[in-house]
Amino acid sequence: MTKQDLILLALNPSPILDLMERALYAAGFGVAIAHDRLGLDKSAQESIPALLIIGEKFADQDGFAISLEVLERFPTLPIILYADKDTTGLSKSVIKTGLSGYLYPPLTINDIVDEVQRSLARARKLGDWLRREVKRTTSSLAEKAEFSESERHKLEAVIANIQDGVIVMDKNKNIMLVNRAVRDIFNLDGKAFVGRPLDDVIANADLQALLFRANEGPLKYHEINFDDGRVFNAQYTPIPQIGAAITMQDISYLKELDRLKSDFIHTVSHDLRSPLTSIMGYTELVERTGPLNSNQQEFLRRLQGSIQHITTLINDLLDLGRLEAGFDTRREIVHLENVLKYSLDMFEGQLKKKNIKLAVDVAEDLKTLRANPIRIRQMMDNLIGNAIKYTQPEGMVRVNMSMMGNQIILKVEDTGPGIPPEEQGRIFEKFYRATNTIESVDGSGLGLAIVKSIVDSHQGRVWVESTVGKGSAFIVLLPAQDEPIK
Ligand code: ADP
Repeated sequence: MTKQDLILLALNPSPILDLMERALYAAGFGVAIAHDRLGLDKSAQESIPALLIIGEKFADQDGFAISLEVLERFPTLPIILYADKDTTGLSKSVIKTGLSGYLYPPLTINDIVDEVQRSLARARKLGDWLRREVKRTTSSLAEKAEFSESERHKLEAVIANIQDGVIVMDKNKNIMLVNRAVRDIFNLDGKAFVGRPLDDVIANADLQALLFRANEGPLKYHEINFDDGRVFNAQYTPIPQIGAAITMQDISYLKELDRLKSDFIHTVSHDLRSPLTSIMGYTELVERTGPLNSNQQEFLRRLQGSIQHITTLINDLLDLGRLEAGFDTRREIVHLENVLKYSLDMFEGQLKKKNIKLAVDVAEDLKTLRANPIRIRQMMDNLIGNAIKYTQPEGMVRVNMSMMGNQIILKVEDTGPGIPPEEQGRIFEKFYRATNTIESVDGSGLGLAIVKSIVDSHQGRVWVESTVGKGSAFIVLLPAQDEPIK
């Protein structure tokens, strides 16, 4: 028992009330008496009693009903009911109402004090347990909150200081966070961007193309070019329940290395071409110098085949060099359907030989291009040539040309072996040949590099969508000529 424990008595004036008051004082409790319902509520609220003793009838009201209401507000307050007499239903009602105990006459001082102390002891145990539980739960919650708060700070610091650019967007492509690197890359300082749509804040065509391509899923390779020569590789990663993140790495130095390598290859190929031409010339002359036996003829034929092969390779390399150096400035009106027709004429024999089905679909509203017709033909030949080359006999090749806004979409699809996802980003590199390639299929790994250079030099985009075992689709997006010239 604690000295300060206050017992609130809510009993109608009677000798029992006096007895209780005296008994409790004597036992060392504080006592407060409520004279009416209002007084009871006020004392319960303000003086925080340790226990309430209430009459079965109090201030013309039912003690049980009042107890229920009090417990509703103070569920841990122990309540003892005083009844004028013990009836059969009394204990039942006490239990049902959730009271701690009950008293009825005849009463001695000890009866009162014993019952009060018993109820208080029980309430105290309950209170201790409750406090312990609350403490335990709140401390573990606090720990968790502290942990996640410090984790959040760490994460923010990591993202802020990371060298790569990071943009986090919500599901509607509104900016949630950009780090310092992105602010520097796009000169965003001083601009308000949080909560605004990414394509409003950063008007960069390559970034917008990334968002467009990203609708189809995560992206590993996408270049973002700047006029000052900087180049970034961007990845788009959807984040469940949040939206998506774009990360960007500066690959300008890799591009510069690539340029140096290209320059070197260009010079070497150029220097190789003249001796090759003279070797070819002499192999043709040998035949005229006198009769050759069949072995000599066969060896010469193989020699010429190999020289032809190297010459094609060198021509491809020189082409690439020219394209990459930006020498390709010739621009004319190009009707893509005509280019397609000539290209398909050329492949007719190969299609027949492999018995490959061909489906062509050209939209009626297809616009014209301002382009170099020779390069566009080269691009078309490479894509259709690959589709036929990599597709097994009896397969299918589909060529589709349509408009999307002011962009022409060329899609070359096949039912070939498909390209493993991890290699799809590399097949446009020079000399890269994917592991799916059937060994017997001839190639130098330059075709798609040429395609990409041509598409780039016409301000277009090219990418592949492919599933191993099902086939590949190469998609080229080229800006149509603005106003058709009549
Ligand atoms: P290659 O001379 O080897 O055909 P490309 O640059 O044209 O060189 O293509 C690079 C690689 O991409 C090929 O070696 C091949 O692995 C893969 N590839 C290109 N087109 C297709 C296709 N239609 N189906 C499957 N794989 C393809």
